[in-house]
Amino acid sequence: MIDSGEPRNGPAAHMHGYLSRDGMPPRELLVAGRIEIKEYGGEVITGTVNDLVPNGSDAFWLLLDDGQRVSARRLLVTTGLRDELPDIPGLRDRWARDVLHCPYCHGYEVRDRQLGVIGGTPGAVRYAQIVRQWTHDLVYFTPPGTLSAVERTQLVARAIGVVEGTVDGLVIDGADQLRGVRLDDGRVVPRDALFVPPRFIPNTALLIELGCDVDDDGWVTTDATGRTSVRGVWAAGNVVDPRAQVITAAGAGSAAALALNADLVDDDVRNAVRELDHGFRPALTSNITSKESS
Ligand SMILES: Cc1cc2nc3c(=O)[nH]c(=O)nc-3n(C[C@H](O)[C@H](O)[C@H](O)COP(=O)(O)OP(=O)(O)OC[C@H]3O[C@@H](n4cnc5c(N)ncnc54)[C@H](O)[C@@H]3O)c2cc1C
Repeated sequence: MIDSGEPRNGPAAHMHGYLSRDGMPPRELLVAGRIEIKEYGGEVITGTVNDLVPNGSDAFWLLLDDGQRVSARRLLVTTGLRDELPDIPGLRDRWARDVLHCPYCHGYEVRDRQLGVIGGTPGAVRYAQIVRQWTHDLVYFTPPGTLSAVERTQLVARAIGVVEGTVDGLVIDGADQLRGVRLDDGRVVPRDALFVPPRFIPNTALLIELGCDVDDDGWVTTDATGRTSVRGVWAAGNVVDPRAQVITAAGAGSAAALALNADLVDDDVRNAVRELDHGFRPALTSNITSKESS
């Protein structure tokens, strides 16, 4: 397992939505996972894979940034995604504190507070309607002229305030808490926390270079087990699924591991039969002999 150790939710103090691990700091989950891998004899390398290179027809080389070269018969790529935030001064500094993106992960912690949504992007109104479940005091910020009549009606119908204008900064108090959103016309709208729908950029460079198929939006395609179009290569989690949370990314990784292992066993059987055809008889691992072989 080779991991550069920068999980997407790393900036968050606590993780939610993972039954039995609620409130755990994200890095503690990583530490626990690494310990378990080692206890089962697995090797954990902290490093970055710069390149994946086919090694013959049935294996790969993984080239690491420190010059190491690791060989593998199969690959499971789980490199995640990057969150691209709107270009608002100070927004990135507040990320995972009082600027949030996932109402399912962190909505409960800011329930009933004065919340805002930075809108104006496709799907942002629907996203605001999801955030609305956590508070009666929600303001939707959007550049002028971006709301359709239907969207405006939907927002008004659920008592979501609409502020049209250009957000040019955040107001932070002396205790380092978000207090409001500042617009370029000088207005300040008091808010305790902001939800921002980011643009998701999957970390697919390694998969693309290997030649994996992508869909019309540029996301690598997989089957239900995570198998990509390139033989021997699986992918799971946010790198192929922007909706994956920690628990579903872990589940997808587990499902891929089963399929990957079954594929390796198929390979082993094929190789063993080939050797048998060439006259190599493997020693039986026990003294049980069947009628046919005796
Ligand atoms: C601020 C924030 C808070 C969140 N809170 C929650 C929450 O409370 N609950 C929840 O369920 N979800 C939460 N999420 C979503 C969660 O982060 C993702 O669902 C989860 O991280 C997806 O797991 P993953 O394994 O696909 O990717 P990641 O966890 O991002 O892991 C990808 C790993 O691959 C490594 N990597 C990338 N490229 C390379 C390379 N070339 N070589 C080696 N290693 C590489 C990275 O360093 C990283 O460790 C949150 C997201 C954000 C942004």
